[in-house]
Parts: sequence; C-alpha cells; structure tokens
Amino acid sequence: MAIFDTHAHYMKEDFGDDLDPLLEELPRKGVERVLAVGCDIESSKEETALAERYSYVWAAAGIHPEHAAEVSEDWETELEQLLAHKKVAALGEIGLDYHYPEPPKDVQQRIFRRQLEIAAKHDKPVIIHSRDASGDTLEILKEYKPRGVLHCFSGSAETAREIVKLGMYIGFTGVLTFKNSKKAWAACAEVPIDRLLLETDCPYMAPVPHRGERCDSSMIAFTAAKMAEIKGVSAEEMIETARENGERLFFNGKN
Ligand SMILES: [Zn+2]
Repeated sequence: MAIFDTHAHYMKEDFGDDLDPLLEELPRKGVERVLAVGCDIESSKEETALAERYSYVWAAAGIHPEHAAEVSEDWETELEQLLAHKKVAALGEIGLDYHYPEPPKDVQQRIFRRQLEIAAKHDKPVIIHSRDASGDTLEILKEYKPRGVLHCFSGSAETAREIVKLGMYIGFTGVLTFKNSKKAWAACAEVPIDRLLLETDCPYMAPVPHRGERCDSSMIAFTAAKMAEIKGVSAEEMIETARENGERLFFNGKN
C-alpha cells in the first residue's frame, strides 16, 4: 500500500508534541507521500519547514479565502518566494467560501484571481477550496483554466462533471464515509477514476469509524475503501490509482 494524502494540515497548534512522532510513523502505516497545505503565509511557511524535515512531506502555499482580508502589503512577494522553494509543489489552498458573510465576496474573488495568475506564472498546480460558492468558482475556473484539484468536493454531480471537463481533478475527504453523504457519493460516481484524489484535510474530517476524532493521513484507508466501493474496484486499486493521479497532477511523474 502506498498512500498519497494530497491534502493535509500539519500544524503545531493542532498536533502539539504529537506532530513529529506522528509524522515519523506515517511511512510505517503505508503513507508514501503527504501534501501539507497552507492557509495563509504563516501556515504555508510552517508546512514548508515540515517539508524540509521530512523527505515524504511536500508543501502547498497559498491564501485560503477566509484569510483573504488579512493579507499583508507584500503577500504576493512572500507567496512567490515560497513557490520558488523546491519542496513547494502547489499553490493552495485558494478559492471562495461564502458560508459566512465575511470576508466580502469581492475581496475573496480578487485574492483568488490574483493567485490563479501567480500559479500560471510559476507553472504550479492549484488546490481549490469552494464552499457554498459553486457558481462563482466555476465561472472563475473557466476563465483561468488552471491545472489543479477541487478539494473536499461538496458540489453536485453536475458541477463535478463541469470541473472534469476543465481537465481538473476532484478530491474527496472522510466526508465520503459519512452516512448522510449521498450527494458526495453521486458526485464521486460521476468522476472518471483517473481524476480522483484521496485526501484527509486532517486534523479535520476524520472518516468513519473515527468521525469526530483528530484525523491524520493514515486514516485515509477508510475513505479509499468507500471510494473503491463507489467506483467498483478494490481498495488497493483505488489507493494506487489515486496515488498515480496525484503524482501526475503535482509532480508530472518527476521527484
Ligand atoms: Zn484544507
């Protein structure tokens, strides 16, 4: 088994002193690679520092929409510096989140668009977060046509089809294992198997039977089993296919 967790958050503030022992243990639990995703400049730096320490950890740097109103004057320079780091594989997570009224939509859209331009300039894949914002997200993605993934997918099967048409990948977390996730199952069924990614979004979104617990990359096997059931393949085959998909998207077969 060679798991590639394409979306994790390994922050000291969430894992405390468990962080290093947990990361050291991952290869023995079948985790071959982890993409540790930043949500602002500070967390992107922290994930990049982890990637420097662990050969199997890679980082993504970006401004999450919920932090779109807090960026500093020189955030673009800082982001571009991070993207030049050899262990930063992607720009993310970025996107739109209309679940709460703040930050205002126009602010979120401006930061999102700017980061899509930066990703194109640096030829990096993007990790997209979209919550309660399918219409605007899709419109902007159609405009920029980035290489990337719609992560923790929560949209409809129809939206999934549109994303796939754009050449993008779709990632599912432990939410897929929840018993009320009919919409996610329908979307997952719609996505060709060579466009699916497995992710944890840890420490959140732990799959059943660990729902509500602190999640880590080793729990992805439960999400893989559910995804395999939906796609009609074995769990091992699903893990392997999702790993190859992630390698293709984030590393182009390199590294
Ligand atoms: Zn995330």
